Amino acid sequence: MKSIIKKYGQGQPALVIVACLHGDEIVGRRVIDELYKLKIIKGQLKTIIANQAALEKGVRFIDQDLNRSFPGNKNSNLAEEKIAHYILQEIKYADYIVDIHSTSTDTKDVMIIKKRDAQIDQMIRFINPRRVLLMSENYGQQALVNFCSGVSIEYGRHKAEDTFIKSLQDIKTLMHHLGMIKMKDVAEERSATENYQVFDVASKPAHFRINKNIHNFVKVLSGDVLGYINNRPVLAKEDFYPVLFGEQAYKDIIGFKASKIKFLNRGYIKSKYSRRHQERRL
Ligand SMILES: [Zn+2]
Repeated sequence: MKSIIKKYGQGQPALVIVACLHGDEIVGRRVIDELYKLKIIKGQLKTIIANQAALEKGVRFIDQDLNRSFPGNKNSNLAEEKIAHYILQEIKYADYIVDIHSTSTDTKDVMIIKKRDAQIDQMIRFINPRRVLLMSENYGQQALVNFCSGVSIEYGRHKAEDTFIKSLQDIKTLMHHLGMIKMKDVAEERSATENYQVFDVASKPAHFRINKNIHNFVKVLSGDVLGYINNRPVLAKEDFYPVLFGEQAYKDIIGFKASKIKFLNRGYIKSKYSRRHQERRL
């Protein structure tokens, strides 16, 4: 078996936690280990360690990036094509799906969504992440969350303890709000979520070296130095917020360019106070 799947509880809601779509991102496996210590009082939890073979080898993938392999193909010779097909069968009846990632960059505390629907809006409201990034399916094609009603969380660096703690905390908070567990220490309401939307990729020229002063989610202005080719500076042609800039796993792109947006749906806004707060910030 290429994925490790466990189930606990039954009925609704059915929550699926997907970890290790990338075998070098162990945080999801650690989160899953902790989730099984919880007492589930309602619904069912299914956990999927997606790419077990890559995880064992400590590599991102075996044949190709699993999170660029959906919907997959059971007859393919490529390991990840088969796994992708198999995972989609496993998540068919899920009500909620959270897919856990980590990064080699300083990108932190972001929930990535591909679209909006009732389940996704509900997960955002319950988890209340610091940032939501709408990344349409034109970016990261063939990713798992293009094929289901799910969200990806990208909370920090691969090996940072903080990434693990925050990912676990937010999934527990979601489970609490779904009535699946009883949590004593529910997180205090955070300040309003910042909303972003990817509008382009930053393609990576040959021999490009990133400017170390570029930080993810810190606004880049037109004319800023993005990096260097040999010693020649490469300048930004427009204003944008960098996301996943400098990710080592990306070969052809530096990262993504996003703009700040305002979600119009009141579902994102928890109270009159935070609504005013959010409007002021944006
Ligand atoms: Zn990943």
